[in-house]
Amino acid sequence: MSEPENLYRGFVPPSHTEEIAAGVFATIQPDGSWGLSNAGFVRDGREVGVIDTLLTEDRTRQFQEEIRRLAGNTRTRYLVNTHHHNDHTFGNYLFDEAAIIGHTECRDEVLATGLAPIGRDPFVPWGDIQVRAPDITFEDRLRLHLGSTRLDLIHVGPAHTRNDVIVWLPESRTLFAGDVLFQCATPIITDGSVTGSVAALDLIASLQPEVIVPGHGELTDVSEVKKWRSYFAFLSEAAAQAHAAGISPLAAAQELDLGEFGAWQHPERVVLNLHRAMAEAGGTPPGERLDSREIFADMLRFDPRAYGHKLIHGRESYVDQP
Ligand SMILES: [Zn+2]
Repeated sequence: MSEPENLYRGFVPPSHTEEIAAGVFATIQPDGSWGLSNAGFVRDGREVGVIDTLLTEDRTRQFQEEIRRLAGNTRTRYLVNTHHHNDHTFGNYLFDEAAIIGHTECRDEVLATGLAPIGRDPFVPWGDIQVRAPDITFEDRLRLHLGSTRLDLIHVGPAHTRNDVIVWLPESRTLFAGDVLFQCATPIITDGSVTGSVAALDLIASLQPEVIVPGHGELTDVSEVKKWRSYFAFLSEAAAQAHAAGISPLAAAQELDLGEFGAWQHPERVVLNLHRAMAEAGGTPPGERLDSREIFADMLRFDPRAYGHKLIHGRESYVDQP
């Protein structure tokens, strides 16, 4: 699966940045597929706090251009990582001046992963990525003050991973969910938990946010949280039945009618999610490490064209446009 034709999935439009509340910005990368994650920043006076970076050097530099354009001649004081995945952390090194903040296990995972994804996927125009992990770590909660703006960092994992952190701005009722929530796309809980995801979504709903910046996809709100709650209820039921029947997650996925959830982006991720949900149905503790390589290979057995990267039209012309 390393040939470029197996990893190339077309072009997408450039990112766009929205001011979702006074001084609070979200940078959205359509179409939210593999590696096309969202990020954000908060401006108060001459200081900026940034939430996540992007997959490649070029994408993160473009994001930095947006920060300069919209926040002016400021300095980035804090950079928060919502979790360790490289589409949220590979641009960390470009924020020299910032203190990088994340969950303790986010730091561990960034350092353990290193540059390995670059070797596995030579098709992506990575740039000159250098590993930089969070400098300041925490376990449960941390409150940041940026001028008079308060940012509450709340560990909600295991959900998408073990180290998920959401960023809640109570004054503007805006929330950066990281990959604990996508918009119109199937969740990924290979490294996390189905019960933990439900708990994380309930916590998000209890905050009553007005705008949610999902980890992937367009801006959304608590209506998306309700949809994901339904998906996880459906998944748990399917996992319990498959576990009782003694069939494999792949076989369970092949028999399953996804119904309304089949219309979401990347429905084949149900294979990843059944692996985790069936492990939990069998008593595996939430977040306990599974063989994620083998699980991912199972998703590709289910749909050999499921995985691949899209490039940004007019920006990443590293391959001929079809
Ligand atoms: Zn992720």
